[in-house]
Amino acid sequence: MNEMKQKNIESTKFDIPPELQGQVEITTIDKIYNWGRRSSIWPLMFGLACCAIEMICTAASRYDFARFGMEIMRPSPRQADLMIVAGTVTKKMIPQIVRLYNQMPEPKYVVAMGACASGGGPFKEGYNVVSGVDRYVPVDVYIPGCPPTPQALIHGLITLQRKIDTQSIKKVRWYSKEPIDAIPVPLLGPDVVDPRQNAIIREQAEKIIEQSETNAAGTAQVEQA
Ligand code: SF4
Repeated sequence: MNEMKQKNIESTKFDIPPELQGQVEITTIDKIYNWGRRSSIWPLMFGLACCAIEMICTAASRYDFARFGMEIMRPSPRQADLMIVAGTVTKKMIPQIVRLYNQMPEPKYVVAMGACASGGGPFKEGYNVVSGVDRYVPVDVYIPGCPPTPQALIHGLITLQRKIDTQSIKKVRWYSKEPIDAIPVPLLGPDVVDPRQNAIIREQAEKIIEQSETNAAGTAQVEQA
């Protein structure tokens, strides 16, 4: 076991007799569990816009995020742990992104790479752009930049590893007794509709109908007079 791996998993609370050092490690379930996950994060292979070019570059030989245990990008959400949202999230794409997120098994993580994925970027408030992917899926790490450099992406991935290091098997959502509900897939019509907002949309529509009926009744009374 090399020095770096040893440092990540060992617990310093107990002394190991000198004759067993190098052969025995004492650690906690949390540490070994987190070490296993943080050292084998497989990203889902997809990109949305210019930021994806930087992500591809980070996976290639010069930067090579396999050095962090992110060995291979998986083309199937069922084999992926990490969704890197690299690029502009359009209203046309968000239903597919949410569907892919739902298809990823727990534990799963999301990195918003770049200004567009984090908040809409230069296209914020555009007619076809979602102002941040976190409106639909939970984001663990945001990486600023337009586009972020490969170094920035690597920094974001290391930040994610540090976040994983702090998780406890007792508190993680995928082991809680309550079922984890899938995120409702947004509907794309003339605009994108978030099904979680259905009650509010219905209420507002009813108010508008009520108001227009009142106005119509008022107009009819004036005409009769
Ligand atoms: S943040 Fe900049 S580089 Fe990245 S997708 Fe948006 S416009 Fe392109």
